[in-house]
Amino acid sequence: MIFKDITDANFNGIDISSHHEFSHEKVYYYEDPKAGIKSLIAIHDSVKGPAIGGCRFRQYDSFDAGLTDVLRLSKGMTDKNNIAQIPFGGGKAVIFQQDQKSEALLESFATFLNLLQGAYISAEDIGITIEDIRIIKKYSDYVFDNVDPGPYTAKGLFYAIEEAVNIYFSESLNGKKVAIQGAGSVGRGLAEYLAKSGAKVYISDIDQSKLKDIRTNNITCIDDAFSFECDVFSPCAVGAIFTESSINNLNCKIIAGGANNQLLDASIADELHSKGIVFIPDILINSGGVIGLTKDLLGRNKTQTDKALKDIANRVKKIMIFSKEKSISIFEGLKIQEL
Ligand code: NAD
Repeated sequence: MIFKDITDANFNGIDISSHHEFSHEKVYYYEDPKAGIKSLIAIHDSVKGPAIGGCRFRQYDSFDAGLTDVLRLSKGMTDKNNIAQIPFGGGKAVIFQQDQKSEALLESFATFLNLLQGAYISAEDIGITIEDIRIIKKYSDYVFDNVDPGPYTAKGLFYAIEEAVNIYFSESLNGKKVAIQGAGSVGRGLAEYLAKSGAKVYISDIDQSKLKDIRTNNITCIDDAFSFECDVFSPCAVGAIFTESSINNLNCKIIAGGANNQLLDASIADELHSKGIVFIPDILINSGGVIGLTKDLLGRNKTQTDKALKDIANRVKKIMIFSKEKSISIFEGLKIQEL
């Protein structure tokens, strides 16, 4: 087994602290060949408390691709927790998928968490389910197994979209067209809230099995939400979907989704702004999951948790009005306006 603090090291040919995404407190590497696991944990900032964030299990083309993902995502968690006023730091884990997930792999990941003694507390993310987290919990206390965060993220997003539509159109969601990319835990939940509010919901997924039991009125399955003509496009699948060329295919007025790191790079925010599309950054509106995960540690009851989710919408309102007044993107607005 290998366990290494690689923060200041040259590792796998990469000078970690010179990496373009690096602004972190700690980066750890862990490898256990018997369990088939190679993993990284990045702790971006723990000034406000232990670092929290999900763990991804996915195939990466290279070590650098996994490193870049964990560095970007953990920084995003610090920003997200700060905006949502959650007294925790930002962290993230990635497991480099080599084979199928197994209990041995999850147990070994628990060992990695235990070696960090609570400096990082993990939750699920792409490729890791709440069931996996419950297996890890058998071997480590450093996971959030209290709730499935997806439905909380979906509810926070719903409040955010409702407010954004209200500000943009001075109208309710009733009859508005919302296209959702990704019918997973977040996308499905969001679709149901929107449909109940009278919005016309269109949803796509690359995995057709995710769409087959959608029966709710007002929800229509489509092939591609990205270019669908709609009032709101909600990316709830994967990151880095907005690139200089892909944004030419958009056909929406507002973008508001749960997927992390939707912009390939920060300059795309300005491009969307100049196209007249209101892009609401994910770190502002996808904090429902961490609000759900931390509710028990923070002693929040159901009413207080729902208020924290509604506060996401209050922040959307404040920043949309501020950015409009200044004629800047919300992305820029977030850099200068306290929420
Ligand atoms: P999920 O794995 O349950 O669902 C994602 C869905 O997207 C899957 O059904 C997948 O088939 C589909 N998909 C992948 N690529 C696609 C594409 N190109 N077009 C259409 N569909 C595609 O994940 P989730 O928990 O619903 O999370 C969705 C996104 O939100 C992820 O980026 C995740 O990191 C982010 N996020 C999730 C939470 C949470 O609480 N679950 C919190 C914050 C952010």
